[in-house]
Amino acid sequence: MFRMIHPARIAVLNGQPARAGHYVLYWMQQAQRVSQNHALEYAIEQANLLKLPVVIGFGLMDDYPDANLRHYAFMLQGLKATKHAATQRGICMVIRRGNPPTIAADLAREAAIVVCDRGYLLHQRRWRDQLADALPVRLVQIESDVVVPVEQASQKAEYAARTIRPKIAKLIKGHLVPLEQQTPIRDSLSLNIKDDLDISDIEGALAELKLDRSVPPSRRFVGGTDQAQGLLAEFLKKTLRGYATIRNEPSESICSHLSPYLHFGQISPLEIALAVMNADVPDLDKTAFLEQLIIRRELSCNYVQFTPQYWTYDALPAWARRSLENHAKDRREALYTREQLESAQTTDPYWNAAMREMIHTGYMHNYMRMYWGKCVIGWKRHPREAFDDLLYLNNRYLLDGRDANGYAGVGWCFGLHDRPWTNRPIFGQIRCMNAAGLRRKFDMEAYVKQVDQWSR
Ligand SMILES: Cc1cc2nc3c(=O)[nH]c(=O)nc-3n(C[C@H](O)[C@H](O)[C@H](O)COP(=O)(O)OP(=O)(O)OC[C@H]3O[C@@H](n4cnc5c(N)ncnc54)[C@H](O)[C@@H]3O)c2cc1C
Repeated sequence: MFRMIHPARIAVLNGQPARAGHYVLYWMQQAQRVSQNHALEYAIEQANLLKLPVVIGFGLMDDYPDANLRHYAFMLQGLKATKHAATQRGICMVIRRGNPPTIAADLAREAAIVVCDRGYLLHQRRWRDQLADALPVRLVQIESDVVVPVEQASQKAEYAARTIRPKIAKLIKGHLVPLEQQTPIRDSLSLNIKDDLDISDIEGALAELKLDRSVPPSRRFVGGTDQAQGLLAEFLKKTLRGYATIRNEPSESICSHLSPYLHFGQISPLEIALAVMNADVPDLDKTAFLEQLIIRRELSCNYVQFTPQYWTYDALPAWARRSLENHAKDRREALYTREQLESAQTTDPYWNAAMREMIHTGYMHNYMRMYWGKCVIGWKRHPREAFDDLLYLNNRYLLDGRDANGYAGVGWCFGLHDRPWTNRPIFGQIRCMNAAGLRRKFDMEAYVKQVDQWSR
């Protein structure tokens, strides 16, 4: 067990001193959980040293970049459970509406130290910079949403899984250690700091927020750490065995479905990794899963951390863009508008099913995500248009959208983190996929039937 937080997770973000204060503030933004949260445990440790209580502050903005009702409903379900779990540990969690760093700065007025967690997207980085500049008190960032801290693994954008894998492998042992839960010696519930949004009534809170309501909540997934831990337990019991060999079969659901929970920080990747390592299944299955959870996911974090404008087509590797553009004039069998794609009106029943899975459940099977992305390259005049439509749909409908994995995943369809393949019409040297391949390998009719059920 770690009593102390691994030094590679800790970064002091400003040159300000700690000072006398009424509490230690943990500005929660990315790691929206109480369980296995390094930032929270660090805040408790500091508070205990100073004989102060800990307060968690969360800034909830109405117009979070690209978020809609689906994302907010899932997030509030999670926050409600997190607030309850914090209360049980004697920690006051305050939810305030507004720009997150402004809320944090406001709550920090009485804080002795401020602790924050770490998300990798540009706006999250800017918020931390903004807060670091504004605070007259020390701001300490604690990384808790990856297994191996991003800059410790690598200091540059990596080419592919094969280049980051050995770097992570060298460090991982030191990080695969459960985090010990601290007990706050001072309770902060009596400080009586008020929320300005009551999330105990989720429907009421959602109604109060000014939101894009065009995408309804998921019919399949409910947010919250307890939900995530339930899915993890079920995965370990029923489907981890077989992950190495069957996970690509779209009709089988041999996967954890944890990506929405990871996206909102409702479960710790470390907690998942340790549970998988201790599971009673063949090593082959464990290794295959940890490759996705750690290597692939942390390669995505590396991508957004070190790639300027990671959300654009221009950020893709030059060889891939050149090759696709050399084929931009190749004849296409069909061209679809964004509206036709969004209403799942192509002539490909498998693609339409994948799009409907995304629309109705907020999730899509990994193999179908790859196929879904590749097809659109063939249905647009220019790869840039395909990239923009895919990212728009990905971020609009998926619960796990707007994530480092989404930018890298869509990018992968265009050659990112991959290698050149044999030159072909339309795709050039980009790896391509087709419906015949899907039919040959998988029970696609069963997949379509399953999506029909979710769509009813
Ligand atoms: C076009 C495209 C778009 C994608 N968009 C997103 C997105 O918006 N958000 C998102 O989280 N993932 C995205 N992915 C990656 C991947 O498809 C999902 O993470 C995975 O399907 C989530 O399902 P799961 O949790 O059941 O995965 P599992 O198979 O149970 O894997 C466990 C965890 O490992 C990680 N993981 C699995 N596959 C990948 C992968 N290929 N790359 C990186 N990490 C992976 C995820 O964090 C996942 O939750 C995308 C992939 C592609 C090809």
